[in-house]
Amino acid sequence: MSNNNPQPVLELRNVSVGYESARGVVQAVRNISLTIYPNEIVGLIGESGSGKSTLANAIMHLLRNSAFLLGGEVIVQGQNVYDLNSKELKKFRWNRMSMVFQSAMNALNPVLTIEQQIADVFKAHRPQMSKHEIHDKAVSLMELVSIHPKHLRSYPHELSGGMRQRVVIAIAIALEPDLVIMDEPTTALDVVVQKSILDKIKELQKAKGFAVLFISHDFSLVAELAERVAIMYAGRLVEVTGSKELNLETRHHPYTEGLLRAIPELTAESVTIEGIPGNPPDLINLPSGCAYHPRCKYAMESCKTVPPVEKDVEGRLIACHLYTEEAVK
Ligand code: SF4
Repeated sequence: MSNNNPQPVLELRNVSVGYESARGVVQAVRNISLTIYPNEIVGLIGESGSGKSTLANAIMHLLRNSAFLLGGEVIVQGQNVYDLNSKELKKFRWNRMSMVFQSAMNALNPVLTIEQQIADVFKAHRPQMSKHEIHDKAVSLMELVSIHPKHLRSYPHELSGGMRQRVVIAIAIALEPDLVIMDEPTTALDVVVQKSILDKIKELQKAKGFAVLFISHDFSLVAELAERVAIMYAGRLVEVTGSKELNLETRHHPYTEGLLRAIPELTAESVTIEGIPGNPPDLINLPSGCAYHPRCKYAMESCKTVPPVEKDVEGRLIACHLYTEEAVK
């Protein structure tokens, strides 16, 4: 982690995103602030529907249909992404920040070969490159993600799921961006392939030095890959912690604790898994006070009325009334 670096790669300042719906505005992302530094891998974790993908789309300025930025700033390499006009944004995206989407099959065009799809990126962003240079670049990108260059002639359906996902990663890093957002990049893959993709991401990140925001609902996956982990609940960050501290010996936000208790310990003699009771809240009609209070075993009276603010708890940021100045002492 390079926290002394004066220029973060990504700065989210009080970012809020809403969706128009027939029942009212869905508060998908609420007041999120997060900073990512060069060479850093930060995990973003939360149950499905917690707002993770909406936040990723907001960072990329890819909010669609009824979704809109309610407030806040998205700063990538010192540039407010929402100050760019559409032409500037087109240039900025993929050059400075890129995204690996959940489904590689949907991200790739089924009627174009892999080489055509890689070439399209260079034709759009590096028009001065010759055909020969683009081909050489495509070959080296395939080698970088450990796929034989003969597959440049393949169509997406001719590759395995793991290979397709590696192609998508190759395309995302083709222009050597400073920030790569990976939204559940291994969800559809089996455990062995997941592991090989994670190893590849780590290897590429070390070699190329880009920062990664790795989004997942899988706690163990994120903990293995990321140095810091941000935990999201009902559109809000409830904790930001070092992944090494992700254990039950360390004090956490009750939701983080619940997620940790829900992971089976494979080495334990007897496996006790505790799920989190209840369901994630309705984002149109959020519970008052702390949105987690209906599910929280530590909830106090104040939790029902007063929203908690983030506090620094031994280097971790936690938004919970348990960690008031007095409670920490
Ligand atoms: S603020 Fe209260 S309800 Fe919310 S997580 Fe903390 S103890 Fe639980």
